[in-house]
Amino acid sequence: PLPPQTASGSHPRGLYLLFATEMWERFSYYGMRAVLVLFLTKAMMMDKAFASKFYGGYTSLVYLTPLIGGFISDRYWGNRRSITVGGLLMAVGQFTLFAAANIYGTPASHWLLYAGLGMMIVGNGFFKPNISSMVGSLYSAGDTRKDAAYTIFYMGINLGSFIGNTITSLIGDTGHPGDFRWAFLACGIAMVLGTAVFNWGKGKYLHTPEGVQLGLTPAHSGGVKGIFALLPVLFALVLGILWLDSAMFPTIAPLLGIALVAIGFMIFSDKSLTGADVQGIMVIFIVSFFVVFFWAAFEQAPASLTFFADEQMDRTIFGYELPASIFQNLNAIFVVAGAPLVALVWTALGKRGTEPASPVKMAMGLALLAAGYLVMCFGVHNLVPGVKVSMFFLVALYFLHSAGELCLSPIGMSLVNKLAPVKFASLLMAVWFLANAAANYLAGYMSSLYPDPKSTKPAPVLLGFHITSLYDFFMVFVVSAAVAAGLLFLISGRL
Ligand code: GLN
Repeated sequence: PLPPQTASGSHPRGLYLLFATEMWERFSYYGMRAVLVLFLTKAMMMDKAFASKFYGGYTSLVYLTPLIGGFISDRYWGNRRSITVGGLLMAVGQFTLFAAANIYGTPASHWLLYAGLGMMIVGNGFFKPNISSMVGSLYSAGDTRKDAAYTIFYMGINLGSFIGNTITSLIGDTGHPGDFRWAFLACGIAMVLGTAVFNWGKGKYLHTPEGVQLGLTPAHSGGVKGIFALLPVLFALVLGILWLDSAMFPTIAPLLGIALVAIGFMIFSDKSLTGADVQGIMVIFIVSFFVVFFWAAFEQAPASLTFFADEQMDRTIFGYELPASIFQNLNAIFVVAGAPLVALVWTALGKRGTEPASPVKMAMGLALLAAGYLVMCFGVHNLVPGVKVSMFFLVALYFLHSAGELCLSPIGMSLVNKLAPVKFASLLMAVWFLANAAANYLAGYMSSLYPDPKSTKPAPVLLGFHITSLYDFFMVFVVSAAVAAGLLFLISGRL
């Protein structure tokens, strides 16, 4: 017999189990990412441009592997096994980074760095898509609590990000390169905790309202063990791609293109789709394209914006100098505080019949993103060398970016959910992930154009424009986000 399901508030207890698991995992992901570029530049002695591209390659692949992990989970492993294997792989990955940071700067530390990130990329592929899809499975099809459940889950993501980022900034980003290891150790422990919590509670709490256990390995799945043999292959592949892309020639961008064409072909070659289905799917592709411009600018946070906070910004508050990496936390804080507010605004507008349509909300998200960088442009305009910028500008930027995220990210996800024909639901979610992968790759590339005052190399060039100052650099994002916002707004009626 199963225990009663709704004893905790009005949501099934399984939601809180997934909340806790995802919170620890996001602690680990965002906590590590927060200090990554600083570790790469200050301990591993990479230059900023290389570290930026490396960061972009890593985060891009993190969004690409869920395509494979989701597929293996659906066919062979089920959610539970995938989450556990993914969680453990990510934990070992973080401990490998810990080992790398203990001997930073040596040739061996470089290999450990690649190996650790490779394990986290593969692990995330198994973890992330499965944990997100389990949230919805806890409820019956028409349950109205589903939206609220995903909002609560999004809070867990950002709570984890907040705690993780705070801890890794304080113990890792201290000014002593040797201390970065403590950040990675903390992330490894967090990942072990997340996996342990999940395994402690999965049998008790992960079932449908009718009591059917969720996420089990499909009974007829013969190749369960065989898939384990695939892991080293996948790992070697990821390592090769990461290494090739960062060291020699761009591999990830063409890979993303191939994935997009393959998915498009799988979907559009299906003759059973109705005209309305095809239109819905086209909307998903179009919206995903615009989303690339959003995340590419937004994900500067752990890259160029952290370089900026580190070198160009006055971080002293009450006589204490804050670590540069801690400012990324503002995003999690603003999201947790702002999510209920934004929901209230939509409901209030809805009551008056003036709630904007989803593409309009997403265009607003892009416009807020442009506004954030515009504020930053005021801060760095005619900057005198040696003078540091007030932190006000970065705080305002994160405020506007978080507001933009709340207009775009949850809305986009649910739009994909609503428009996708059931048989292509996961594949179209993959298109959304693919947009994230492309955006993160682009984010790394854009951050590599950060004008480093200390660099002796010629100014970076983008489409013929020389980026000679921080003003130029941030203006690129103002223009790209504003143009994307304008275009999306113009076509929103048709969408
Ligand atoms: N912050 C959210 C998460 O970590 C969404 C990120 C994204 O879609 N790029 O899950």
